[in-house]
Amino acid sequence: MIDDHRDEKPAGATRSAKFPLRLERMVRAPKKLVAGDLAGRAPASGLGLDSEDVRRRLVDRLRAANPHDARVLQALASVPRHLFVDAALVTQAYEDTSLPIGHGQTISKPSVVARMLDVLMQGANARRTGHLGRVLEIGTGCGYQAAVLCSLGRQVVSIERIRGLYDKASANLAAVGLQHLRLVYGDGMLGHPPNAPYDSIIAAACGAEVPECWLAQLAVGGRLISPVVGHAKRQTLVVVDRTDAGYQRTEHEAVQFVPLKSGLI
Ligand code: SAH
Repeated sequence: MIDDHRDEKPAGATRSAKFPLRLERMVRAPKKLVAGDLAGRAPASGLGLDSEDVRRRLVDRLRAANPHDARVLQALASVPRHLFVDAALVTQAYEDTSLPIGHGQTISKPSVVARMLDVLMQGANARRTGHLGRVLEIGTGCGYQAAVLCSLGRQVVSIERIRGLYDKASANLAAVGLQHLRLVYGDGMLGHPPNAPYDSIIAAACGAEVPECWLAQLAVGGRLISPVVGHAKRQTLVVVDRTDAGYQRTEHEAVQFVPLKSGLI
């Protein structure tokens, strides 16, 4: 379940009544999330969006457009995306598009989520174990990708700098009922040292370079994927692998993400 990470709150903030002790206990005794759990716990929408078919069709379209890791597609198929978007946009929830989530931010496009998770699944530790291990996500937004990550990782820490979105993601993720997930209200440019090292680090916002502290918090055998903005404001996906010998950086395709910003609001 969700762990409201108190250390990251601004001075004077108190523990929210939204996170009762019962939920904390569930964090200490995590249960493996099985695909389909999320959908099973989602309340019915009344628009036919809560059916497995509608999610399956999205995944079929992604598969038809590009080859993807079957485990990644299964994870996407298990998350009821309509529960992460505002009511007015709910009919577009299963289109392969990004959508506004408030505060000038967007929910990631499913094909981009799938592509980034495909790449993470090819990291050395993920190839050896078959899962993403300990994961850090920078940019929780509405919590959609964090929910997908819970199917692929063993422990997921997701960090958001906008209080309103952190609250929204907390509510969304409480509704779908996830295990081994920690949400942090904090500046992801600093990573999240308390749970480091991470086998997988994924950024959902684009900075001028990969922050040094993310590299330091990456486990040996771990893989990081992040958009990075370069010449003429062009963004590309950058992958960094950490090996015994050091770091190896590769650049991939052009992408379009919201900016990575420092500080809390
Ligand atoms: N992961 C989301 C996408 C969110 S959009 C999804 O599943 O759809 C990217 C998010 O990154 C925004 O919510 C933005 O506020 C957040 N962000 C930008 N800079 C950040 C920072 N330094 N620390 C944490 N979050 C940040």
